[in-house]
Amino acid sequence: MTYYLAVETDSGCFIGCNHKHRSVISAAACISSAGGYVVAVEKRRLRELIDAEDDEFRWAMNGTGEQKEKARRAYIRMLRLLRSGTM
Ligand SMILES: [Zn+2]
Repeated sequence: MTYYLAVETDSGCFIGCNHKHRSVISAAACISSAGGYVVAVEKRRLRELIDAEDDEFRWAMNGTGEQKEKARRAYIRMLRLLRSGTM
């Protein structure tokens, strides 16, 4: 099974989120900084996104649909709640 992580670098450190996102878009919504990216985890090993997944990532980050933006914000709010709460 493949899952996805939102990753970012902070002062040279590589930080991944603690989720196992089922989709690239879900992981992309988890990115909190401008320099964030998504990587795949397959058989417990990190790997870079393949082209199709990278397309999905770009779509998630650059899509302009208002509906999608709302969904993304709602998702981010939900994640914040989960993080601050008792997940
Ligand atoms: Zn995440």
